[in-house]
Amino acid sequence: MAKNPLHCSFCGRNRDEVKILIAGQEGHICENCVEHAREIIEQELMTKDERIPSSFKLTVKKPVEIKKFLDEYVIGQDEAKRVLSVAVYNHYKRLQQKTNEASTSDVEIEKSNIIMVGETGTGKTLLAKTIARLLNVPFAIVDATVFTEAGYVGEDVESILTRLLQVCNYDVPAAERGIVYIDEIDKIARKGDNPSITRDVSGEGVQQGMLKLLEGTDVLVPPQGGRKHPEQKLIKINTQNILFICGGAFDGIDKVIARRVQTNTIGFNVDKEQQDAMKKNLLRYVNAPDLKTFGLIPELLGRLPVVTHLDPLDAPTLRAILTEPKNALIKQYRKLFDLEGIQLTIEPLVLDFMVEKAVEYKLGARGLRSICESILTDAMFELPGTNEKTFLLDINYAKRKFENSKISLLKVA
Ligand code: ADP
Repeated sequence: MAKNPLHCSFCGRNRDEVKILIAGQEGHICENCVEHAREIIEQELMTKDERIPSSFKLTVKKPVEIKKFLDEYVIGQDEAKRVLSVAVYNHYKRLQQKTNEASTSDVEIEKSNIIMVGETGTGKTLLAKTIARLLNVPFAIVDATVFTEAGYVGEDVESILTRLLQVCNYDVPAAERGIVYIDEIDKIARKGDNPSITRDVSGEGVQQGMLKLLEGTDVLVPPQGGRKHPEQKLIKINTQNILFICGGAFDGIDKVIARRVQTNTIGFNVDKEQQDAMKKNLLRYVNAPDLKTFGLIPELLGRLPVVTHLDPLDAPTLRAILTEPKNALIKQYRKLFDLEGIQLTIEPLVLDFMVEKAVEYKLGARGLRSICESILTDAMFELPGTNEKTFLLDINYAKRKFENSKISLLKVA
């Protein structure tokens, strides 16, 4: 059958099969082909390093300055802060050495990717985020659990870099100096004691996939993430100067460390306080062989040479988290009330009460926010629009609001 003279010269669709047909000198193009062409152009431009590095200008600070900056936002975690400060400083020193031809020497400083071990909610992500903010580099957070090895349902490991590209608007040179925080790295541990006949989809394969990303080579990245497919244009990124920080809770690693350092592992007749103290001390001794026993493969550990730990948060630390960081929760609520023209005064006892509940309900630092909300929501609902100029949050009010809230149902037995 002869083609209707009015058809798209690219895909061949007839006039009645498309919504718009744009006429050119020799032919026509439909809306689908225009869209497709736009995608091709976008990807083509992205794959060439033609973009000028954007607003990401590296600011290198000395380790002491980095630590000081971290202190403003993160409470405690001194060791992790020091280790991170040095690692990040060395990493960027290395970057500068690379760009500065005159100083090219035969000593090559190796990459200092980092692994942080600490219970969830102790500030791992916060530390990584704060560092990225200080250095003004692109920063992406990815969750290791969404990745699977090639050939399985899930995302390819390369899409870790897609996130980085997305945060800097596909500015390839900027992305190549960015920081990636890979959360829940412990969840891709090899299930050592329980070898399965089927392949370990979520574990070792993903670790293998990550190797080339971490070591510093050219990686082809799908611009939209997800799975790579044959027709897709890929963006080449060199990972040599990307700093990878991995974090994980590594539940149960204390037992591995205990075995190694030959102390008695947590027993049945040790009270809770003692247990916590021991746990805290044990994590302090964590090293790469412990992580290997836990199920990370040696090759991966070799590419994560800096190992550090975070302490569990005790009540005084939680109390400090409420009020001390630069954007502490309490400061935020004060500001919110301020904007309404209301001066918020909080009795110190209320802060103790909040911490007590966070500990009692095992909510950690993340829970502090929900506790504050449960106590202050009614006031924030009722006060705007009234003539009130002050609001005193006393302990009785706090207790009453907390007990009527949904959180109070969360109590763990
Ligand atoms: P992790 O990554 O270790 O699971 P996060 O860094 O996401 O934990 O912490 C969750 C939230 O708890 C943070 O956004 C922050 O508000 C608070 N927080 C946790 N630890 C600290 C800390 N040491 N200092 C200040 N705030 C903290």
